[in-house]
Amino acid sequence: MHLSRFPRVHLAHLPTPLELLPNLSKALGGPNIYIKRDDCTGLGSGGNKTRKLEFLIADALDKKADVIITQGAVQSNHARQTVAAATKMGMACEILLENRTESTEHEYLESGNVFLDRLFGANVAHLPKDTNMDQAMEGKAEELRIAGKNPYIIPGGGSNAIGALGYVNCAIETLTQANDMGLKIDHFVTATGSAGTQAGLVVGLEATNSLIPLLGIGVRAPKEKQEENVFNLACKTADHMGISGCVSREKVIADCNYVGGGYGVPTDGMIEAVTMMAQLEAILMDPVYSGKGLAGLIDYIRKGFFKKDENIVFLHTGGSAALFGYTNTFDFS
Ligand SMILES: *Cc1c(COP(=O)(O)O)cnc(C)c1O
Repeated sequence: MHLSRFPRVHLAHLPTPLELLPNLSKALGGPNIYIKRDDCTGLGSGGNKTRKLEFLIADALDKKADVIITQGAVQSNHARQTVAAATKMGMACEILLENRTESTEHEYLESGNVFLDRLFGANVAHLPKDTNMDQAMEGKAEELRIAGKNPYIIPGGGSNAIGALGYVNCAIETLTQANDMGLKIDHFVTATGSAGTQAGLVVGLEATNSLIPLLGIGVRAPKEKQEENVFNLACKTADHMGISGCVSREKVIADCNYVGGGYGVPTDGMIEAVTMMAQLEAILMDPVYSGKGLAGLIDYIRKGFFKKDENIVFLHTGGSAALFGYTNTFDFS
């Protein structure tokens, strides 16, 4: 495993911290919960997409692109980090946002990440729920080519075999940190959406024979679909790296019982998890991904899934900017 073979631009503050959450661990009565702070990747308020963008933007630059096109849900953290990366590297950026939650609230449609998309200089287009977003990106690319531009399309979530290299890198980085700290990791837990994060992690953890089980907590698709998406992308990523066959299907596990009413729709568990992390550890989670992922982890802990003396690493994938699109969801009265 040698990632320097692949073109990369350095956009993230790495390594991100790996730290114990003493108060949350105590409040839940063990196990020891550690957090991998990928909310602190630094670019344009940070998050997990930055690691993927290091490889994706390098590919775009190799192809002499002058404008990046990507898509996401309205409060997409991926869109926000993509425009930040494009801007930093001197490229224009077109953001297509799908109103997946069908919200009509101004706060949701224009605050949080959408405000930041515009502040970083993107052209933002709002499209209705169930728009074929890949087709919409192709249409935008065609329009730009006719205007003499050289567009580069980054898929939703930056999740392809190039982007997932960023999370192979995260697995290697976390193992190095744990080895240096003398920390034995018993379980690794992450929220999983467009699949690139979990796919990259599973390749990294399996190809290094780490023997660390990885659990994804789904935020959108049902279990079978999510696991299939992650497994397919893990296989493509391993092929791309020249290490085909390192991931077996049974190593890809996603629990999708914490989605609630749908993608981006708040749940009581998410509200509890975001509030606990804020009030016990002063760390900001997000309402769509890391909040639901943490709600899943808390539920597993309460159900006694882990031994009291085990060490769990929860990946903080970022996204706190989206909180400002959801302030009405939290009631402090
Ligand atoms: C995109 C995102 C995820 C999910 O990562 P995928 O690679 O899309 O599965 C998790 N948390 C946050 C905050 C995100 O923005």
